[in-house]
Amino acid sequence: MNNPDENKCAPIIDLAAVDSDGSFHCPKCGTSISPDDETEENYKILDTVVSNNELSELVIACGKCGCKITLTGFQQSLEA
Ligand SMILES: [Zn+2]
Repeated sequence: MNNPDENKCAPIIDLAAVDSDGSFHCPKCGTSISPDDETEENYKILDTVVSNNELSELVIACGKCGCKITLTGFQQSLEA
């Protein structure tokens, strides 16, 4: 794809590697984002990928800088 100097920000964050409640900071602007926050004030869901009836990927946009962040690592459940 051709994206020269266009504010391209597309990190992938593995939630399995994130501490505590799964919240994390936008790699670009540092906004705190929590997937459990359903108000969408801090982020917007762009796309979801489901496999085996489980959420496997979530693509969100940071509400502050628009950074498009892909979240993975949803497969772990509490004390599975
Ligand atoms: Zn951001």
